[in-house]
Amino acid sequence: MLIERIWAANPLRNFHYLVACAQTGEALIVDPLDASQCLAVARARGFSITQILNTHEHRDHTDGNGGVVAATGSKVLAHAGAAGVIGSVDRGLVRGDVIKVGRTVELEVLDTPGHTRSHVCLLAHGDSPALFCGDTLFNAGAGNCHNGGDPGLLYETFVNQLARLPDSTRVFPGHEYMARNLAFTLDREPGNVDAAKALATAKAVKPEDARVTTLGEEKRVNAFLRLQNPEVVARLRERFPEIGEKPDARTVFVKLRELRNSW
Ligand SMILES: [Zn+2]
Ligand SMILES: [Zn+2]
Repeated sequence: MLIERIWAANPLRNFHYLVACAQTGEALIVDPLDASQCLAVARARGFSITQILNTHEHRDHTDGNGGVVAATGSKVLAHAGAAGVIGSVDRGLVRGDVIKVGRTVELEVLDTPGHTRSHVCLLAHGDSPALFCGDTLFNAGAGNCHNGGDPGLLYETFVNQLARLPDSTRVFPGHEYMARNLAFTLDREPGNVDAAKALATAKAVKPEDARVTTLGEEKRVNAFLRLQNPEVVARLRERFPEIGEKPDARTVFVKLRELRNSW
């Protein structure tokens, strides 16, 4: 499986991804925003795009659909519940579906609500698993719930699905927010040495060169995956005394998300 990350260089800091079969060159584009940019990269790499996958219905993940379809005749795939809003979806996805790309790539569909009600992540299994997680899990952060989402659902997705994937899983999110999110983690947990090191690295590189993290690293530097950490909980209590001395993980997650909204 070949993965080409494409930095959109826009204020929202989107990433697109081309996922291609090394044998046939067939490719799936994840969350096209700038169609011409995606098509140019595919051409340069010798890939032929045959499918489009929208992780969810927000325009910054779907605006390139029309341009890519017009140029390639690709099929559009999206969560069955988001298909109506996106429009012109050829295949509505449900949990457990498998998307094949060429001869060698198989991507499992995870139903991952929270950022929106109808959001999918794609999981490539194998020796070096990969997760295309849209606006659900970010590097060192979690998606917001402002536009059709629910923080309780996002918590369930994190705990019951994403956190259970192998630590070696590479994380390919829909946006580049690494430095800002690491600063948030460090504000919750000033003693987190891994987060401090990662922040220094993140600040030293351009966004298009941002490091690809693994889920194992995320568990060390992402506050939304560190819900039992005593320092995280103690600092959160200073801000939200009502959560008590032993808040459950769900409460910690929801309050972290609330705090991040205004941070
Ligand atoms: Zn979104
Ligand atoms: Zn987005």
